[in-house]
Amino acid sequence: MADVPERRPETAPGEVQRPAHRELPAELAPAKKGALGQMLAPVAGFGVTASSMFRPSVTEDYPFVKTPTQPRYHGRHQLNRYADGLEKCIGCELCAWACPADAILVEGGDNSPGGQYSPGERYGRVYQINYLRCIFCGLCIEACPTRALTMTNEFELAGPSREGLIYEKQDLLAPLPQGALAAPHPMVEGTDDDDYYRGDVTGPTQAQVDWMREHRPDDPSLEDVQTVEAPTTAQSGGHR
Ligand code: SF4
Ligand code: SF4
Repeated sequence: MADVPERRPETAPGEVQRPAHRELPAELAPAKKGALGQMLAPVAGFGVTASSMFRPSVTEDYPFVKTPTQPRYHGRHQLNRYADGLEKCIGCELCAWACPADAILVEGGDNSPGGQYSPGERYGRVYQINYLRCIFCGLCIEACPTRALTMTNEFELAGPSREGLIYEKQDLLAPLPQGALAAPHPMVEGTDDDDYYRGDVTGPTQAQVDWMREHRPDDPSLEDVQTVEAPTTAQSGGHR
C-alpha cells in the first residue's frame, strides 16, 4: 500500500481560525501616497507637535498655580468629626462592603468611658484606604450611614512608594473643628448618638473640658477650646 502523506490540519489545536486576507474595495482603500508623500511620511507625525509649539500655552503654571476643581470632584477621602471633636465613624464597615475595588479596610473597636472616640458604642479603630486600588467612584461615601466619610477635592495623590498610597486613619481624619476637643473624651452630657446625628451638638461643653483637664491636662486642644451649652433636647430629655 502506497504511503499517504499526512495531511496537516488547517488549524492547530488551540489556534484561532483567522479569516482569509481580503483586499479592501477600491473606495475604502487608503489613498496611495505620491513620491513626496512617501518621502515625508516618517516625519509627518511631528506636524502636530511643530504646529503646537508656537501656540499660546494652555497650562496653568501647575504645580505653583492650581486650577480649582469642580465643587463635587471626587478626590481624597476624609473622615469627618462632630463639632465637639468626636469622630463620626462608627466602624460599621459598610463603606468597605460597598467598595467595588476592595480598597477599604475597617476594624471597629468598642468605645469605653475613658476612650470614647465617637458617639455610641463603636468607633473606627483601624481605617485604611488603598489608593492603588481606589477608582474614586464614591460608592463608599453613599454607603456611610453617619456621613463620616466624604470626598475632598484634593487630587494630588501620586507618591514615590506603594506603601505611601495606603492612607491610614490619621491621614484621612478631618482637622479638629475650631474650638473643639481632641478625641477621646465623653459625649456631651445627657445626649445620645441620635442627638449627634441630628446636628444638635454644636461644640464641646464645660463638662467635657473639665473631664479633659482631669484626664489629659496636657492636650493642646484645651488651649483653644470654646464651650457651648448642651443642647436643650438633651437637657430636657427631649425627643427620647
Ligand atoms: S471611591 Fe469607590 S473605589 Fe474608592 S474607596 Fe470608595 S468605593 Fe472604593
Ligand atoms: S466611614 Fe462610615 S460606612 Fe465606613 S466604617 Fe465608618 S461609619 Fe461605617
